[in-house]
Amino acid sequence: MRILLVEDDVPLANALQKSLQGEGFVVNHVNQGKLALNALSTPDQDMIILDLGLPDIDGLEVLKQLRNKKSSLPVIILTARDSTESKVKGLDYGADDYLVKPFEIQELMARLRVIERRLGTANSSLICVGQVTLDTFSHKIFVSINGRDTSITPANKYTNNEIEIHFSKKEFMVLKALMENAGRILSREKIESKLYHWGEEVLSNAVEVHIHKLRKSLPDKFIQNVRGVGYIINNPH
Ligand code: CA
Repeated sequence: MRILLVEDDVPLANALQKSLQGEGFVVNHVNQGKLALNALSTPDQDMIILDLGLPDIDGLEVLKQLRNKKSSLPVIILTARDSTESKVKGLDYGADDYLVKPFEIQELMARLRVIERRLGTANSSLICVGQVTLDTFSHKIFVSINGRDTSITPANKYTNNEIEIHFSKKEFMVLKALMENAGRILSREKIESKLYHWGEEVLSNAVEVHIHKLRKSLPDKFIQNVRGVGYIINNPH
């Protein structure tokens, strides 16, 4: 999940970016309304955390322009403006949620998860494709063994018919992107855009390395390579 963080308070933005990245979000930060609008003209974001008091354009104006373009990108307003009037305005202008500063980071995370669930698969935090189940909330991955597949390299503990498999944060994000798009090919560039924020240095073979690691612990042929195009997980249904 990629978040555009629009916030002119740099220490707050840095702290938020760190916390969000710790939860597996990819965060791109801008500190002005104009820069936010520029960033929103590309399809690089999945949601926005929007401060209202910005140095150039007011956050409400950014929101208004976004909605005028018929964008349904989820927006959480994060602001010191705590009047009922301001909250009503923000929500009526098309924000999905409104959180007043100072706030607890756990509350922001919970509200982001609400949006993530809404965007994702129904009301569940689970994505299931074939033998593999991925929990977007707990970040756990289970492979059902069912006696059908013996190609899974033995990982950690057994729970009933499932093996829990541990991956690094980036590997988890690659798998999540592919499972969310099961049945569709994702290009290497598309996968990269879901893993790294702007300006972050990316090794040219980073995606290949993550895929290689994933394949070692997942059922045979779960992730397929479409030569010269990208990667796909086929939905068995
Ligand atoms: Ca501000």
